[in-house]
Amino acid sequence: MSEQVSFGRIRAILEKHNIRLRKSLGQNFLMDGNIVRKIVTASRVAPGDVVVEIGPGAGTLTAALAGTCAHVVAVELDKRLLPVLEEVLGGLQNVTVVSKDALEVDFDQLVARATGATTYKVVANLPYYITTPLIMHLLRGQSGVTEMVLMIQLEVADRLVARPGSKDYGAFTVTVQYYCRPEILFRVPRTVFFPQPEVDSAVVRLAKRQEPEVAVDDEDLFFTLVRGAFGQRRKTLANALAGAKIFPGWTRAIWEEVLKRAGIDPRCRGETLGLAEFAALARACRQRLM
Ligand code: SAM
Repeated sequence: MSEQVSFGRIRAILEKHNIRLRKSLGQNFLMDGNIVRKIVTASRVAPGDVVVEIGPGAGTLTAALAGTCAHVVAVELDKRLLPVLEEVLGGLQNVTVVSKDALEVDFDQLVARATGATTYKVVANLPYYITTPLIMHLLRGQSGVTEMVLMIQLEVADRLVARPGSKDYGAFTVTVQYYCRPEILFRVPRTVFFPQPEVDSAVVRLAKRQEPEVAVDDEDLFFTLVRGAFGQRRKTLANALAGAKIFPGWTRAIWEEVLKRAGIDPRCRGETLGLAEFAALARACRQRLM
């Protein structure tokens, strides 16, 4: 089984198929075998596992993942790359390439159809422009994901692991930390990509929790409150929530009362709240609504 693909060969195949990489599709291909190996090692993928790869590109990471004898389901949007993937991966029995927009794929269903499995890991060098919506899609919409090892923009990696009160802490942080234990594994300089992007990257692990970090009865309400609290970061929490118009007729005075009942100072800002406080706020809202 060919695990290693030479980067000279990749360039030649791209040229042969007359493919120019597109910035608009986040096409910055990894050109460093060490980093490819480090990602595969970090993914702890074993024979029998199922791995979803988003954006296989020219198939370098895909081939290395397939070398672990896991089954790789690779989802690529750019149809021009399909003959390239066929040429690079054609002989591999344990790779399924699917031509779709990852943001619109039901991965639970796709994996079940392709392999019969109900759980899977996601490993990818993500196109930057879909990082946040894709992570949200995988966390909130897909129950079969057990872990993700992702190469993403360094700034986004910092947001995943941010603590309350810091500038990087926001609704995205709260959502990720609710479902996962996020960890930055290592940084990757921009110089190892072709073409070279304008930002550095990091490889992160998002290990899905068995149970969410805090107990929440109504997840939709919890996330609506999180979005409302961060919607206007400069306002006090009571003002931001009143301005978000979450419940008809809830004035600032009502929000102050509910926040106090949840043990939260209404004059603080949303960005200082931890997950437990958002959960307490959701409970207090439900009590007020009963
Ligand atoms: N995996 C390859 C590598 O490491 O060299 C390529 C990674 S490149 C950063 C991102 C890949 O995602 C490109 O192949 C691009 O065409 C693909 N892509 C972009 N948008 C996509 C989408 N919405 N769904 C699936 N793939 C997408």
